[in-house]
Amino acid sequence: MIEVDPRGTSQHCSNCLNRVPKELSDRWHCCYHCGLILDRDLNSAELIKKVGLGASPTQKRSTLLRREAVETRF
Ligand SMILES: [Zn+2]
Repeated sequence: MIEVDPRGTSQHCSNCLNRVPKELSDRWHCCYHCGLILDRDLNSAELIKKVGLGASPTQKRSTLLRREAVETRF
């Protein structure tokens, strides 16, 4: 079973691509890996833009989200 959460992209840093878990109520993306602080929506947009470079954004994005769903499940 595959769950795709459209908010899943906000769980990853758009700068270093590390996973940064955050609550839905967190308005800001604060990456403790690279120190990036960004509005979560902007981070999400940047991430989608970055992972979509040179390939199908939909496919790349769903792969990322699927991996995250698996991590969350186990
Ligand atoms: Zn980062």
